[in-house]
Order: sequence, then C-alpha cells, then structure tokens
Amino acid sequence: MSQNRYAGRHRPPAQPSHGRRLLVPLALVSTTVAGGVVVRSAGASDLSPEAAAVQDLSNTVAGGYEARDRAVAAAGSDRDAARASRDASRAAVASVVNLTDQKASDVDTAVEAARKAEESKKAEAAKKAAAARQAAEDARQQAQRWVSPLSNYTLTSGFGWRWGRMHPAQDLAAPVGTPVHALSTGTVIFSGWSSQGYGYMVQIRYWDGTVSWFAHNSRLLVNIGDEVAPGQVVSYSGNTGNSTGPHLHLEIHPQGAGSVPPRAWLAQKGVQL
Ligand SMILES: [Zn+2]
Repeated sequence: MSQNRYAGRHRPPAQPSHGRRLLVPLALVSTTVAGGVVVRSAGASDLSPEAAAVQDLSNTVAGGYEARDRAVAAAGSDRDAARASRDASRAAVASVVNLTDQKASDVDTAVEAARKAEESKKAEAAKKAAAARQAAEDARQQAQRWVSPLSNYTLTSGFGWRWGRMHPAQDLAAPVGTPVHALSTGTVIFSGWSSQGYGYMVQIRYWDGTVSWFAHNSRLLVNIGDEVAPGQVVSYSGNTGNSTGPHLHLEIHPQGAGSVPPRAWLAQKGVQL
C-alpha cells in the first residue's frame, strides 16, 4: 500500500536514521560529562547538529544534577522538617506532661483546700458544740443556784425547842411587805391560807426535791402549779396566822419529809443566813 493511506490522519513514521544519529553523541556525552568537560560553554552557532545534541543532553544531565541537588536539599529540608516536627512533638508531649502536672497540682490544691475547709467546718462545729455545752452548763448552774429568801432581815427564833415546844424553822424578822424570794427553781405546791396557824403560806418543791415553807405572809403572788425561778418574788412577808410580829417563818423539808435546820441546810448550798 502507499503512504497516502495515512494522509490527513497521521504523520508519516519518523525516519529511523534520526535515532542512529544520536547513538554516538550519547556515548560521547556520557564520556564528556564523566570527564568533567563543560560542553555547555560551546557556542550554539558553531555546533554541528551532533554537537548541539550533545550540548542539549549535557544541559539535561546538568539539569539532572541540579534536580538531584534540589532533591538532596529538599531531602535536607525534609530532615529539617522532620526534626522540627519531632521537636514539636516532643514539645507537645512536654506541654501535655506540664499540663498534666499542672492539673495534678490543681487537683492537689483543690483537695488540700477541701481538707482545710472540712477541718475548718469541724473546728467551727466543735466550737459551736462547746459553746452550746457551756451555755447549757451555765443555764443549769443558773437554774440550780440557791438564794436567800430575804434581802434584809434580822434572825430571831432559830430551829429548836422554844417555850416547851419544837420550832422546826428559822424566823427572819422583816417589815410587812418585804419581798420573799424562791430559793431556787421549783414548782409551787401550795399557796393559800393555812388553817394551822401559818397564815398565808407558800410551799415550793425545788428541782432537787426539797420543799420550803414560807409562812405568815401578807400577800401571795403565785398559784399552785406555778414554775418559779431562783430569786423570783413569790410573796410579801407579813404577820398573818399565829405570829407575834412581822417575820418570815422558813421551814426546809428535804424530799418533802421532816424539817431540818434551815441555816445549816442553806449553808451547804452556799447561802449564809
Ligand atoms: Zn417561826
């Protein structure tokens, strides 16, 4: 067939002679480049087609070296980058470790603060409890203290035999209307007129079971069942009932039983008549 079959569709096949032309120069270039001869410096205009081809190849090879150098440089850059990356990683790890240490430190601080707060709270509670105990103790002592029935008086008849009969009391002479005080905390068990010669009388049972009798009063201020406090005025002294003059007739009945000498008994409570 003829070459016309390819017209308009493909170029005719290249002349095989062109490839052969390059065989020698290629070997020459290899030798030239290996020998360090600079082929590229030759002027392009003076070169034969073969020499031009050699120069082209030389340039290409030189370009290859440059590419290699660039690659090496790039590789160096990559190493630098890798080193930087590694350093950054180490820094990040160190940072994380530092952060972790910081967080641990924060936790320690928080735990310590919580412990101190707890201690403070316990100390505060203990202080309040101690204060409450002290207040209760103070209140108890206040409630259980003993006081004198009169502020101003003159001791007259004491506990004992008088005129052939037993006087189971201490008489305290005082003007009519002198305030009479409860000896301690207690409950009024009698407040009224006595048909047995005691006149207007008040009987109080105290917190320890002792009962006091206040006789010959002019006026009564409490009723049976009333709770009274130490020193509370429960009546005014007088001269009612079987009495020869204004005075308070004081009897003390421990546990409500037989009477005992009031001065000695009160002295045991710290009250001196
Ligand atoms: Zn008396």
